[in-house]
Amino acid sequence: MKGDVHREYLSPDLNLLRMYRLYKEKNTTSSAKFWVYRDIFKQQSLNFGQPRSDTCGKCDAFFTKMSAATSEEEKRKIAVESELHHRKAEKAYTQLQSDTEWAKANADCHVISVDLQGVMYTPNLTHSNVYYQRQLSNFNLCLQELGKEDPAYMCVWHEGIAHRGSIEVASCILKWVKTKFTPLPKPEVRKLIIFSDRCCGQNNNWRMLNLMSMLISMGYFTQVEQKFMVSGHSFLPCDRSFATIEKRRKVSVLHTPDDVSKMILEAQPAKPFKVMRMQCEDFRHLPDSVLKRPAGLQITSK
Ligand SMILES: [Zn+2]
Repeated sequence: MKGDVHREYLSPDLNLLRMYRLYKEKNTTSSAKFWVYRDIFKQQSLNFGQPRSDTCGKCDAFFTKMSAATSEEEKRKIAVESELHHRKAEKAYTQLQSDTEWAKANADCHVISVDLQGVMYTPNLTHSNVYYQRQLSNFNLCLQELGKEDPAYMCVWHEGIAHRGSIEVASCILKWVKTKFTPLPKPEVRKLIIFSDRCCGQNNNWRMLNLMSMLISMGYFTQVEQKFMVSGHSFLPCDRSFATIEKRRKVSVLHTPDDVSKMILEAQPAKPFKVMRMQCEDFRHLPDSVLKRPAGLQITSK
């Protein structure tokens, strides 16, 4: 559960019965019954699947504070704060919708939502040896254009190529821009708005601001803006595509990173995703010093 730092998570492909079978395979002489195994397992700080990261920390805190509040005045104060927080989240959604309409009506205006999918492990086989070995992490960054017909772009790579931090996010956006656009002849204009959550390690950082400045100096755009959804309430259009991919992933056998790319390519037959395989060289040559950083500038996720 969120906030429980001591809890550890096992692969979402496992369950208690499968664990028990694996235990019996390894310990052939053990006479422990399933219920004994289950009781002991429940005493451990172990869970299946991923930690819940999509709940909102602020909403959780409001709920806890409200339950503990003793006076009416205290309760009213918390209610006002919570209301304000929800209005902010709603405003971000309204903005996303109106910008989408703006992009629909104007050919030279582009709005994208950017998000990273949860890690996909290979191989995803279910025989016992796989669970005792370290698996390879595969990453996918979705770049979905809103208000246009183009299918979503999925930038895929694995941990042997790069991590998944600010360099990687900015590099994927740069590659997407170079694939889709050519530099503008003057005096034409082209605008870009980037929507994402406010995660500092990935989307909300100095490197991203430098990238935006670079896109203008390279002549791809004349104006670039970045807008954030309220963390924990940021259901972006990318999430819908991720749900489609996850559905497919659950019924696919993935041995290698190539299988992940193929699975994504086939996940939505009616309007296939565009898969962009990121290579080592795509993650280089990305300066973070195009702009002069103002003294004392702090970038936070709050
Ligand atoms: Zn919230």
